[in-house]
Amino acid sequence: MTAECIFCSIVNGNTDTEILFENETLVVFKDINPHAPVHQLLVPRKHIRSINDLTLSDDTIVSSLISAGKRMANEMGIAASGYKLVFNVERGGGQMIFHLHLHLLGGWK
Ligand code: 5GP
Ligand code: ZN
Repeated sequence: MTAECIFCSIVNGNTDTEILFENETLVVFKDINPHAPVHQLLVPRKHIRSINDLTLSDDTIVSSLISAGKRMANEMGIAASGYKLVFNVERGGGQMIFHLHLHLLGGWK
């Protein structure tokens, strides 16, 4: 947990954010400012700044995020139509919140 990190606050249950799915590794919730009909954030419990800060021991976290993306896409009924799983990396890559997260985007007609 890092002080003043909004995603640490959310994964630790310190906000009223609705949690859509969680397990020992990660938490899933809706993006507050959606860019698609379905826009969820898949957030590891561990505070890691960005993809650049991953180490080999974090490999299971990354695979868990992708598996959760697949699971949530199925749950939301967008698996067959298709979806995007996106990591924004650092400011130049559009990252605004510096706690690693995977975007699940889909549901376009
Ligand atoms: P980034 O640009 O860092 O990849 O994505 C951060 C995302 O977090 C943005 O799409 C933004 O709308 C979302 N976001 C920022 N603050 C909050 C919050 O407090 N609650 C939720 N649910 N989403 C947030
Ligand atoms: Zn954090």
